[in-house]
Amino acid sequence: MITKKGINASPGVAIGPALVLDTEEYRIPLRTVDPSQLATQIRNLDAALQASRQEVQELRVAATRKLGDDTAGIFAFHEQFIADPRLREQVVELIQQRRYSAAYAFGQVMNQRQKLFRSVADPYLKERVRDIFDIEKRVLRHILGRTREDMTRLTEPVVVVAADITPSQAISLDRRHILGFAINVGGPTSHMAIISKLLGIPAVVALGDITSDVSGGETLIVDGTAGIVVASPDPETIARYQERQREHERQVARLRTLRDQPAVTRDGVAIELLANIEVPEEAAAAVEAGAQGVGLYRTELLFLSSTRVPTEEQQYETYRAAVEAAAGRPVIIRTLDLGADKLAPALGAAPHEHNPVLGLRSLRYCLLHLDLFKTHLRAILRASVAGDVRIMFPMIATVMELRQAKATLADVMEDLDEEGLAFRRDLPIGMMVETPAAALLAPAFAREAAFLSIGSNDLTQYTLAVDRGNERVAHLFSAHNPAVLRLLHRVARAGRVYGCEVSLCGEMAGAPLYTQLLLGLGLRRLSMASCDIPAVKQVVRRTTLAACRALAARVLKFDADRQVLNTLRDAHRALDPEDES
Ligand code: PEP
Ligand code: MG
Repeated sequence: MITKKGINASPGVAIGPALVLDTEEYRIPLRTVDPSQLATQIRNLDAALQASRQEVQELRVAATRKLGDDTAGIFAFHEQFIADPRLREQVVELIQQRRYSAAYAFGQVMNQRQKLFRSVADPYLKERVRDIFDIEKRVLRHILGRTREDMTRLTEPVVVVAADITPSQAISLDRRHILGFAINVGGPTSHMAIISKLLGIPAVVALGDITSDVSGGETLIVDGTAGIVVASPDPETIARYQERQREHERQVARLRTLRDQPAVTRDGVAIELLANIEVPEEAAAAVEAGAQGVGLYRTELLFLSSTRVPTEEQQYETYRAAVEAAAGRPVIIRTLDLGADKLAPALGAAPHEHNPVLGLRSLRYCLLHLDLFKTHLRAILRASVAGDVRIMFPMIATVMELRQAKATLADVMEDLDEEGLAFRRDLPIGMMVETPAAALLAPAFAREAAFLSIGSNDLTQYTLAVDRGNERVAHLFSAHNPAVLRLLHRVARAGRVYGCEVSLCGEMAGAPLYTQLLLGLGLRRLSMASCDIPAVKQVVRRTTLAACRALAARVLKFDADRQVLNTLRDAHRALDPEDES
C-alpha cells in the first residue's frame, strides 16, 4: 500500500482500478507481486504479446500494400521478435523466480536485448535498437494500460493515472467511466484541475511520479478533498475511504437543500452567485445547483475538443444552446482564451515560445487573427437574441486592447446589420481583470467597460510571478497574498467609484474560506464551479456584511499571507450555523 500527498484539485472520493496512461514515457518501477498473482501476470503477458503481434501483422499487411516489401520488412522484424519463444520464456522466468510484475520483467528483458543489439558491430543490427524500443512500448501499452485515444471509448469505470492531461484531452474523455484523476504535475488552478471540478470528477494533481508508482489494474483511492492518493489499499483502508465517500455524498445532499434559499447575508445584502461553464450542458446543471446565471462561459473548450476550427454555425448552435439552457438568466460569454496550456489542435502547431503564458495568447491572438475572431464574435452576437447575453474579453493589459476588441465587435455588428441577421445591439461588453496592469488601471477600464470580472487565477499567477500549473511552485501560489488582495481591493473600489459592476470568476470565488473577505472587499457577484455554489451560499447566509467589512479591513493591513490565512480560517470557523439568515 502506497500513500501519496498531492494537491486537492477537485473534491470527492473515487475508488477503482487504475488506468495508467502513456507509460512508455516513464520508467517502469520495480514491482514484485504476491505469489497468488503470478499466473495473472503471465496471462497478462501472453495477452499483450498476442495483441501486439496481431497489431504488427496488420501494420505489415498495410505497409506492403502502400509502400512495398522493403518498408514492410521492418514490421516483419517486429513480428519475429515478438513471436520469439525465447523472449517469452525469459520474461516468464523473471516473473516466476523473482515475482516481478509482468511489466517490470518485460522491461528488464527488453533492456538486455537493447544492450545486446547496441554492442554488436553490424550497423543493421545497431539500427534495430530503436525498433526494440518501439516493440517495448507497444507491448507495455498492452500490459499496463491504454493510450489517451482510448479514453474516449472506455467500457468500464477507471481511475486515470497520467503524467499530465491537457484541457483538450480532459474534455474529450468519456466521462461516464472516469471515476477520478491522479496526475503527476499541475497546480490548484491549472486548467486540468478546473475542468475536473467542472466535470465533477475527484482529482489530485502534483503527485510527483504516481505514473511509476502504480501499474494498470490495481486499486487506487483518490481523495480529491484531502489531496491524497492510496495505491493498493488494504481492506480496512478501502472501508475507511468508502465511509468518507458516503460522508462527502451526505454533505453534498445536505448543501443541496440550500438550492432554493436566497444568497442573502444576515443583514440583508443579496449576493449574486453565478456558475462557470465550459459546455452548454453545464448551464442546465448550473441552474439546477441554484446558480443565478452564468458568470463565465469558457468558449475555448469547443476549439480544444475538435481537430477542425469550429464553423460559425457550430459555434452559434453551441452558444445558443447554453443561452437557452440558462432560461433568461444572464450568460457572460468570454471570447476565446486560447494559448499557453490551452492549445487548439485545429489551429496547427504554434511556433515555439519561451514563455507561452506571456506570449501570443487569448485576446492578443484574436486581435492578430481577425478572421477567426470575427467569426467567433458573429456566432456570439447571433446567439445573443436567445437570452441575456453579455460579452467579456479576456487577458487585457492595455486600454488599447479593449478599444480594439470593441471596435472589432462594432465592425461585426455592422456586417450582421448589412446581412439582416438579428442580434442584441445593447448587450453589455465587459472584460476580465487578470493582469496586474488591468488591476492597476482599473479606474480607466471601469470607465470604458460595462463590467469587470476579476480572473483571480491569472491575476495571482502574474502578480506573484508563479506559474499556476507548475507543481514545483504551487506552494507559492496564493490568491490571499497581500499583493493580490490589494489589487482586488483597488478593482472593487474603482468599480464603485465609476458605477461599473465588478465580479470575480477565478477559483477563489468558489472557496468558502474567501467568501467573507470578498464580500468585505466590496464584491457582490461571484462566479464559480456549480458544485461550489451551495457551500459559498451557506457562508453568505451565515455572515453579515458588517462582519465581512471588518474582516477585510483587518486583513488588508497584513503584509504576510500567513497572517491573512490564519485570520480567514478563524473567521470561517467562527461562523455559527445557528445564525443562518
Ligand atoms: C482566471 O484566470 O481566473 C480565469 C477565470 O480564467 P481561466 O482560469 O480560464 O484562465
Ligand atoms: Mg484566466
